[in-house]
Amino acid sequence: MTTVRTRFAPSPTGFLHIGGARTALFNWLFSRHYQGVFVLRIEDTDAARSTQESIQAILDSMSWLGLDWDEGPFYQTQRYDLYREHAYRLLETGGAYKCYCTPEELEAKRKQAQAEGKPFGYDRTCRNRTDRPEGKPFTVRLKVPLDGVTTVHDLVQGDVVFPNAELDDLILLRSDGSPTYNFCVVVDDATMQITHVIRGNDHLSNTPKQIVLYEALGYPLPQFAHIPLILGQDKSKLSKRHAAVAVMSYQESGFLPEALVNFLARLGWSHGDQEIFTQQELIENFTLEGVGKASGVFNTEKLLWL
Ligand code: GLU
Repeated sequence: MTTVRTRFAPSPTGFLHIGGARTALFNWLFSRHYQGVFVLRIEDTDAARSTQESIQAILDSMSWLGLDWDEGPFYQTQRYDLYREHAYRLLETGGAYKCYCTPEELEAKRKQAQAEGKPFGYDRTCRNRTDRPEGKPFTVRLKVPLDGVTTVHDLVQGDVVFPNAELDDLILLRSDGSPTYNFCVVVDDATMQITHVIRGNDHLSNTPKQIVLYEALGYPLPQFAHIPLILGQDKSKLSKRHAAVAVMSYQESGFLPEALVNFLARLGWSHGDQEIFTQQELIENFTLEGVGKASGVFNTEKLLWL
């Protein structure tokens, strides 16, 4: 049987918050339940927003929660050669093409689409061009299938169908050679042989693009599981506006990590009537069948009662 491999892939643009910690925990529990491997990957390509301080805070909070990783941390900024290699491979196989449209030209196309009341998608001017302008900067774009659909067979959400016509010919490498977000994620998940991608529902709309990329690169697809987002007590998406969302604040106030882990596990996962679990019980019982489609509500009062 294939070894289960999961990953947690935070962008280090702030401390570890309750939502991220819950995603990390579900990946960790899933890998531990199946005696698999848990990989930690730091998605630090956004140079303007990623900080060393955030990386340290994330690592500290994970260690405090007992979420130990078996491989990594890997840093995307140290893997640029690998991404470029993949982009050039796609150019050679015809799965991608060079786009010479300038930012001004793209802006004009966007404005025109807006004036016509159409959603903006790149009009694929360069997809079939045969000339190769010398010395002109270019981006590398993926040739997305023009028709048909891409279906995400999601272990939590069921089948979710996306018409390919709505997927843009996404940029893989920018004109300065830097790789884009979805591209890095796919190259990493594929080369790290991740078998299960468990992440927040807010990433579901990226998944058809990522599937098309896997197919173009000839890599087998992982299984996807998009877990419902956590809501604040006001039923809006949990964010920094809500109180006590930083794992660090629990750490600093002398909270027991086991209590927070138990609380996080129960945000979106259930197992009969049982509410309090030891770490071993969580590992034994955690499967994705227990993850529902409804969002968990972050109720700090409940947390204080644990
Ligand atoms: N870096 C992304 C985030 O922090 C996660 C990407 C993924 O899990 O695929 O939201």
